[in-house]
Amino acid sequence: MNSVTNKIAFFSTQPYDKVFFNKYNESGFQLDFFETQLNPQTVILIENGSVVCVFVNDMVNEEVIRQLAEKKVKIIALRCAGFNNVDLEAAKKYNLKVCRVPAYSPQAVAEHAMAMILTLNRKTHKAYNRVREQNFSLNGLLGFDLFGKTIGIIGTGNIGKAFAKIASGFGCKVLAYDIVENDEMLKDGVSFVGLEDIFKLSDIISLHCPLNDQTKHLINKKSIDSMKDSVMIINTSRGGLIETASVIEGLKDGKIGYLGIDVYEQEEKLFFRDLSDDIIQDDAIQRLMSFPNVLVTAHQAFFTNEALTQIALVTFGNIESLLLDNDIENKSALLV
Ligand code: NAD
Repeated sequence: MNSVTNKIAFFSTQPYDKVFFNKYNESGFQLDFFETQLNPQTVILIENGSVVCVFVNDMVNEEVIRQLAEKKVKIIALRCAGFNNVDLEAAKKYNLKVCRVPAYSPQAVAEHAMAMILTLNRKTHKAYNRVREQNFSLNGLLGFDLFGKTIGIIGTGNIGKAFAKIASGFGCKVLAYDIVENDEMLKDGVSFVGLEDIFKLSDIISLHCPLNDQTKHLINKKSIDSMKDSVMIINTSRGGLIETASVIEGLKDGKIGYLGIDVYEQEEKLFFRDLSDDIIQDDAIQRLMSFPNVLVTAHQAFFTNEALTQIALVTFGNIESLLLDNDIENKSALLV
């Protein structure tokens, strides 16, 4: 590799990114780690001709892509699966390649979704604090059996499929909706139904579809009204799938019994940072966090040792393939 293309500029870098990318840097790339987000003001940090590596909340809009092209950047490597933050049309226009890590550990996210369900249901987070204060009472900790309950899954790709297996293992009835039905899941006893039936029949709804024009605000006032009373909603996919104001109303009037979110529509101003000394200006997240039946985690569903290993290996592999062949064998990894 020549000296121009052996540099990779990482944005939104966290300490663990450095650990895993340094560990698996077998080709000896020069890794420039920037803690800041990529946006029109931070493009200036990139050395001409570098590969740029971004994460879920980096801003990769037309303005940024135009500036990247001026800096002779040829490759944008996402170290994540979702790509709703990248203007793919602009990348095509400016002749940049965009790649991602399509499936690093679907189990990591699926298991986190189940962890959120179990926590909200059995209130282990409250029990943990309670017994430390020598309060051994059970009042307020009542849960329900998952066995026999109906779980509705929206989006049955890698993560939705893994989650369906976990839910089946708990003895739940699994309903699923996707724009493409999955034969393997049908054999496993999952019933594919329309979106309306997911809303109407599910005790728990778990979102695993991408954020796009069709899925934006899928959970809104109308869909919430059609759900079972006291429904549990879990979102480990993307914040924009949920219309936050409607969910807050649903929680206030008790229609929504439990909400677990690992993603939030305005998360880029909050997540992945320690803001413990700041005044949070986002009133909606503050309201959400004030409900006793809401669990917020800060985009940590992917965060396992196995997933971070795969992310580093696949990202390096994608970059090397693009540098050598201008192509990637795994077609779902290449977006443009
Ligand atoms: P995937 O591409 O394997 O599966 C997505 C599925 O959604 C596909 O089966 C697709 O047909 C379906 N889909 C597309 N449009 C739909 C629609 N309008 N209605 C219903 N289904 C639709 O993706 P995946 O790896 O399973 O990931 C799912 C999502 O999870 C990603 O888009 C990403 O946003 C999110 N994610 C979150 C984390 C996290 O840490 N919280 C980590 C990885 C991925």
